[in-house]
Amino acid sequence: MGHPSVLHLLANPAVTEMLNRTMESGITKADGHKLVAECPTDTLVAAAGRIRDSTRPGAVTYSRKVFINLINLCRDTCTYCTYKKEPGEPMLSLLEPTQVLALAEAGKKYRCTEALFVTGERPEQKYGQARAWLSSLGHSSTVEYIREMSELVIEKTGLLPHTNAGSLTRKEMIILKDSNVSFGAMLETSSERLTGKGMPHEDAPSKNPKVRIKTLESAGELGIPMTTGLLVGIGETQEELVDSLFVIKKLHEKYGNIQEVIMQNFAPKPQTGMAQFPQPSSEYFLRAVAMTRIIMPNMNVQVPPNLNPDIFGRYIDAGINDWGGISPVTIDHVNPEFPWPPIESVKKVTEGRGRRLRARLPVYPEFLKGGFITSGRLLQQISLIADNSGLVRDDYIND
Ligand code: SF4
Repeated sequence: MGHPSVLHLLANPAVTEMLNRTMESGITKADGHKLVAECPTDTLVAAAGRIRDSTRPGAVTYSRKVFINLINLCRDTCTYCTYKKEPGEPMLSLLEPTQVLALAEAGKKYRCTEALFVTGERPEQKYGQARAWLSSLGHSSTVEYIREMSELVIEKTGLLPHTNAGSLTRKEMIILKDSNVSFGAMLETSSERLTGKGMPHEDAPSKNPKVRIKTLESAGELGIPMTTGLLVGIGETQEELVDSLFVIKKLHEKYGNIQEVIMQNFAPKPQTGMAQFPQPSSEYFLRAVAMTRIIMPNMNVQVPPNLNPDIFGRYIDAGINDWGGISPVTIDHVNPEFPWPPIESVKKVTEGRGRRLRARLPVYPEFLKGGFITSGRLLQQISLIADNSGLVRDDYIND
């Protein structure tokens, strides 16, 4: 790989040697465990930043999106989640086609290019209300309805769908493949320990790492660009954090379809099972972000700016090259407590770190150029809004 050496930054010769070796020729899991345990934060961050400067020297990107909160009933229960709602709750969302279209049209007006469809995990398996609602719309599954709404949005607005509906099966992904440019399924963690009694994923079978990995593998076999990532600070050990990153790395080495890795820090929220669980320190999270870049030098690495509004520029230092989806229209329904900063302020912070901010599509340029999108309808729409580099045309945003 041959990234610039950080030799002079370190006092500990063994860690120095390991980090330089890592930057020259890749990292082993054992090295990752040692680095995360022993390397000073400044050094880890500097190394990650230099690797990013070498592998992803261009702009820092974001996806201008509209968040379509299709149905927020969920079969599972993760003890940190406030997205999931119960029948009768005021924030229950069951969006009808006219509402979906109104959101997409508002997004188009604000020059969004991504229609992010989000649902809970297989709500129809648990809730009669979800089954009745889907049936009234002519469907028996959430996935069928997502497909219909994806097609509606493409046809009427030209926005590009990206679906995050949890642990989709191969068959379900085939249903959605021609109407979505990419899918999202967070690994969250590869630690099965966190599915145990009293742990965050005890009552969330879809968050069993085996299930998530199966989804990511199926997407790999189908050649679907996938967004995945980790939720940092939910009780994993440092070693488990590194192991989780290696799971993603290995999947990408095998299938080549992981388009980005999102790193999110856990934030305790009132009225959840983890309301009293300590938030990971900003240093721990910064180290996790830096390790992501060191372990996956060429990956698109993303940290959403809204979860750490006062310090998000630090993540550029730690090697990220993307801010994820930012909506000028809708709230972040997964983290409604954390409004997105205005795009202008993200631009200012990015430029303050010597980088340009560019809007990207919900499929990254290298996957677009790599032939991952085969639907003529999607390609036609992309050709109207993308420039030669595969990013959103500047004049499309600035009109
Ligand atoms: S995080 Fe996802 S799977 Fe877990 S409870 Fe919330 S909506 Fe359901």
